[in-house]
Amino acid sequence: MNPLDTRPAPETHDGPPTPAPLLSVRDLRMTFGSGVRAVDGVSFDLRPGETLGLVGESGCGKSTTGRMIVRLLQPTGGTIAFDGHDLTRLPPRAMLPFRRDLQMIFQDPFASLNPRQTVQQIVSGPRKLLTRPQVIELLERVGLAAEHADRYPHEFSGGQAQRIGIARALASGPRLVVCDEPVSALDVSIQAQIVNLLADLQDERGLAYLFIAHDLSVVRHMSDRVAVMYLGRIVELGSRAALYDDPAHPYTRALLSAVPVADPDVEATRERIVLRGDPPSPAAPPPGCSFHPRCALAQDLCRTAPPPLREVRGRQVSCHFAEATP
Ligand code: SF4
Repeated sequence: MNPLDTRPAPETHDGPPTPAPLLSVRDLRMTFGSGVRAVDGVSFDLRPGETLGLVGESGCGKSTTGRMIVRLLQPTGGTIAFDGHDLTRLPPRAMLPFRRDLQMIFQDPFASLNPRQTVQQIVSGPRKLLTRPQVIELLERVGLAAEHADRYPHEFSGGQAQRIGIARALASGPRLVVCDEPVSALDVSIQAQIVNLLADLQDERGLAYLFIAHDLSVVRHMSDRVAVMYLGRIVELGSRAALYDDPAHPYTRALLSAVPVADPDVEATRERIVLRGDPPSPAAPPPGCSFHPRCALAQDLCRTAPPPLREVRGRQVSCHFAEATP
């Protein structure tokens, strides 16, 4: 139990006791100067070696959440406890040891690599964490070669550049890696290779992943549990099986209905839920349930009362009428 946070975890679990969370996020908030509530009270736990998928449309706050966790952004509210230490209250100097434990892999590998540094310099980092043989061993582990160590980022393909980004993230021996859309900028043919590499590295090193993506197929492949975000809030959080086989929130059901199914017979007959319009602006979220302008099940209550996150069929869901979803 995190000694800094006495609030109950937002999830309940059946079966044997689960290990203490590595990461406990509670009521996390990010309001930008323009009044945009990009993240509006997000809570979840992540256990050692676990992958939590974080999904939602562009602009829902998932990347901002990831950036706050690795401390690239300072939250405007809430707590981020890592191993029982609230990172949001640590002075910069005390944060140093945690920087090694918390790493990030970015969507655009080229934008995240310094074009003036060699791969050796990028991977060993400003504090030269690794020796030359250690850098080469890590490069080979992520599918690159020893001779790549002296080259510059522009000499690589997108997939190779992402492998460099992965090697850099692993150099400090992290326990938690935030993967922010790590394959969405890559060719489809390369995506599976990078996803499989991330899965193998997780098994070898016991890494916990916060896996941020808008592609629900990729998240399904990687995740033990999944959280769905809409307009800065988590609207459904549960096991992979619960969300993919029996989604309870109308938004989750709509997202899943857009994912192609491999079986052509199933694909031809299944229900498609088309969402009306675009998500509203986080600067002026609708009253009540923020999903109500796009929800086919909306009733009067939805327009006035925000639905709390509560347990329905073994997962957390924020919908007044979640019991009614088939
Ligand atoms: Fe739809 Fe109402 Fe549920 Fe919101 S609370 S998702 S508007 S049914």
